[in-house]
This record gives sequence, structure tokens and C-alpha cells, in this order.
Amino acid sequence: MDQPAPLPRAPTDSRESGAAKLQDAFGRRFEYLRLSLTQRCNFRCTYCLPNGYRKPAGCAPELTPDEIGRAVRAFADLGLWKLRLTGGEPTVRADFDAIARQVAAVPGIRRVAMTTNGYRLAQRASDWRSAGIDAVNVSVDTLDPHAFAQITGHDRLDEVVAGIDAALAAEYAAVKVNSVLMDQIDEGAWDRILAFVQHRDVSWRFIELMRTNDNARFFETTHTPADALRQRLEHGGWTALARRSGAGPAVEYAHPASRGRIGIIAPYSPGFCDSCNRLRLSSTGKLHLCLFGEAGIDLRPLLQSDAQRDELVARILSSMPGKAQGHRLHDGDSGATPHLASIGG
Ligand code: SAM
Ligand code: SF4
Repeated sequence: MDQPAPLPRAPTDSRESGAAKLQDAFGRRFEYLRLSLTQRCNFRCTYCLPNGYRKPAGCAPELTPDEIGRAVRAFADLGLWKLRLTGGEPTVRADFDAIARQVAAVPGIRRVAMTTNGYRLAQRASDWRSAGIDAVNVSVDTLDPHAFAQITGHDRLDEVVAGIDAALAAEYAAVKVNSVLMDQIDEGAWDRILAFVQHRDVSWRFIELMRTNDNARFFETTHTPADALRQRLEHGGWTALARRSGAGPAVEYAHPASRGRIGIIAPYSPGFCDSCNRLRLSSTGKLHLCLFGEAGIDLRPLLQSDAQRDELVARILSSMPGKAQGHRLHDGDSGATPHLASIGG
């Protein structure tokens, strides 16, 4: 049975002032943790897991809810207040609802978002809202059903769109669409997207395709810079909105005739990493300071009991000087990242 949507959380302590204690050598502060719950996924997106998920040999088990709870409490102690549950496909975990409920209740956590391929959203949007998820990002690369099936391996565009509408009906604080930019967008596709956002309070964000170690060849033939899209928006009467402080990397555009917005996330643009405000924890407990960094810092040994909390906090703090100024994607260097499902895109 549906429970009522959670009330806005009241400030609980000094951490609520947003005083992030995590800062790197370049003065960037970290308030946002992307928590990968699993590397597993049921979709086979061409740019991510084109052959479907296969468990890598020797892969450690996924973090347990207890381990996740300890990690999130430690990060909240350090001033992180925004959390995103991602993966892989986070909702393939049978304990997804329980994890959502648990992390949403951690003192200091003010916003819990999730990123999903949307395959269960139509049925579960209301339950997940009640579990404490505040915001949802849904991945939709095209509104052409045939192309959607070709990209994801699943003929489920209608279900995913129904999921977006269910999320809007469930009154999430934000509903966004992630759309990987893989080609110039033809007129028909563009018109479908404009019609989609015209009456929906969503932000449709185009993300430049990023190179990973597994998709290097696909990237060479498919990567499309966002410049033409930016020009198209500006010529079409869309206006860039001022970026709020602490906002994510998207530049959002609004149009007087449209309820929804269109955004651009351009990781290949100059200065993209300058405003980085996020850290990542993999589904096996590795802290990643960058999406395209190296092996990650293993926190798992310190997630085994509550008595290790001080040591855990100290390890997180001491890792911060190791964060690089920026990714090296321009040099064709994707670090140790085989695909984004591996550490949570
Ligand atoms: N399975 C969920 C989903 O697809 O929304 C969450 C994980 S997925 C790795 C997170 C986001 O990363 C998705 O929006 C996906 O489209 C995007 N993504 C995956 N690989 C990418 C790549 N190589 N370049 C840009 N975006 C990518
Ligand atoms: Fe799965 Fe998301 Fe990767 Fe697609 S992008 S294969 S849905 S993890």
C-alpha cells in the first residue's frame, strides 16, 4: 500500500548549514555523493554494456545495507548532504526500497536522488517517493521506439515514458531525463523532444558521450560535441538559465512556450571539472575521486563496524589531496573505467 510522501526534512544539526568539510587541493568542496548500489544491469546500452552485464572475474560482493549505512553516515559527518543512488541499474537490487529508506533517514542527508533506466518506474514511482527518494533521473536516449530498442536492447520506450509521467504524478522535487548525445539530432527527433518537454515539468539533459575503456571504438565513430545543439537552442529562442551555486554540471535552457527545460552536459568543454562537487562510492566500497580515475580507495575494511567510524572519516579526509584537477578524456585517457556501470555514471 502507498504511504504518504515524506515531509520536507527539518534541519537536524550543524551539518545542515552545508558546511562541507571535504575540500581538495584546488579548493573544490564536496557536498554530493554518488553511491553505486550495483554494477548489474538488465539493459544493454550500446555505449555502456553492449553485450549486457557480465560479472567480472574476482568481483567483490555488493555492499550490504549495513555497510552502506555506515558509509553514508560517515560522509554525512563530513558535510555531504546530497546523495544519488545509481549503478548499474540500482533498482535491480531486491533491497532497493529498504536502502532508499535507510539512507534517506541519515541525519544530515537532505536530498536523495536516483538514476534509473526506468524499467520499473511506472509501477514503483509512488513507492520510491514514499521511501524517501526526492528526485529521479531517467535515461532516455531517443523518443523513437525502434531506435530506443536498438540502443538499449529493450522495446520498452512506452513503459519508460509512462514511468516519467508516474514520477511527475508522484510529485518528486525534480524529474530529469538523461539523453546521451550520439549523433546530430534530425528535425523529426528534435520535434518529438520539444513536444515531450512542452507540457511536462522535466529537464531533458543531453550528455556528450564519454569515452570509456570498453567503448573506445564506438566513441570514435559516435561522439558528437554539443556545440551544434547549443546553437540550435539559442537560435530557437531558448535562453540559458543562470547556474545556481552548488548546481550540477548541466547548463539549462528555458523557452517561454515550454514547461520543461533542455540542458546540456558537456564534459569535453573547457573548465568542465572546475566546479566538480561530487565524490563516488562504488558498489564494492571503493571511493572514486573522479569518474575517470584509477582503482579507487578501498573503504570497505572500515565499513565493518560502527566502532571504525573515526578511522573511516580519517581515511576519507586523507584521500582528498589525491583528487586530480581534471579528467584526461581529451587525451583518450579514461583512467581505469571500463564502462560507467562499473562505478556509477
Ligand atoms: N542504469 C541507470 C541509467 O541508465 O540511468 C543508472 C546508471 S547509468 C551508468 C547513468 C547514466 O550514465 C545514464 O544516464 C547513462 O545514459 C549515462 N552513461 C552511461 N555511459 C555513458 C557514456 N559513455 N557517456 C555518457 N553517458 C553515459
Ligand atoms: Fe544499464 Fe544504465 Fe549502462 Fe544502460 S546506461 S547499460 S541502463 S547501466
